[in-house]
Amino acid sequence: KILLASICVAFLAAKWTSPRFDADSLKGARVLVTGASTGIGEQMAYHYARFGAKIVITARREKVLQQVVEKCLSLGAQKAFYIAADMANEADPDKVVDYALEKLGGLDYLVLNHIGPSPFDMWKGVVDHTKWLMKVNFFSYIQMAWKALPSLEQNKGSLVVVSSLLGKITSPFVAPYSSTKFALNGFFGSLHHELAMKKSNVSISVCTLGLIDTDSAMEKVRGVTDVPAYPATDAALNIIITGSTRQPELFYPWFTYFIAITKDWFPSVTDYMIQNSYNYIP
Ligand code: NDP
Repeated sequence: KILLASICVAFLAAKWTSPRFDADSLKGARVLVTGASTGIGEQMAYHYARFGAKIVITARREKVLQQVVEKCLSLGAQKAFYIAADMANEADPDKVVDYALEKLGGLDYLVLNHIGPSPFDMWKGVVDHTKWLMKVNFFSYIQMAWKALPSLEQNKGSLVVVSSLLGKITSPFVAPYSSTKFALNGFFGSLHHELAMKKSNVSISVCTLGLIDTDSAMEKVRGVTDVPAYPATDAALNIIITGSTRQPELFYPWFTYFIAITKDWFPSVTDYMIQNSYNYIP
């Protein structure tokens, strides 16, 4: 009980002492958001637009990106552009960053958010899918980060990485996806230390999300689990605030923090709870 109370106090203290979000700081900010044709990325594009940012968005579907850009401009974005790209192609991550640097004249925020589609199912031994997913969900992230770092460094910028609770705890049905998120947490956790040791100007925020009510996520879990899903627009706003206040981590919804830190305390209880949170008949 004392341990739990101490963790709660530490968590609340961290919340209270975190810097205040200044919405005006995003006016005119130059932002690149990936995976912004739909879901959380799309919602982030709209929030940045309302704050008066200059935005470049990317994903594969050009027509959808065009519609999102139009809506961003109507919501108040100072500038909004899109570039269609497939993050499984080796050249595309660099191409996208170059495009954003050219259109915006530099970058203040790089928000890495895209994911490739992946089955929600028992692993069936298809190694090639995991290799492909690693390209989309992991290698493209580190390629874009490297390409954008000089400009972020120049502008005291922020690198925001959208990760998942499934990058902190393991769970059935998501082996390839979970691997890519663990890889992101490992890589950007290490880079966070290196930038701090170099006294870099760039902040890194790694965002741990629980279940969010995007169409793609809901399609997968409907009827399979009763875990509550949280609103994409609220998740998107919390990610933006975390980047803007240069916080190293976000846990959204809040209880994901407790799941992440307590998962190893009673391994057999944790395993039981995880395996029984899904409806599965062998
Ligand atoms: P969505 O599936 O709704 O959106 C994924 C985005 O990535 C789309 O814009 C899609 O657009 C784009 N995309 C897909 N494949 C590629 C590709 N090969 N190259 C470039 N872009 C691609 O995802 P969510 O909004 O649900 O998730 C956003 C982030 O939040 C992800 O990082 C995810 O891991 C994380 N998260 C989400 C949770 C949830 O429950 N929703 C839970 C925990 C974390 P297009 O098809 O046009 O290419």
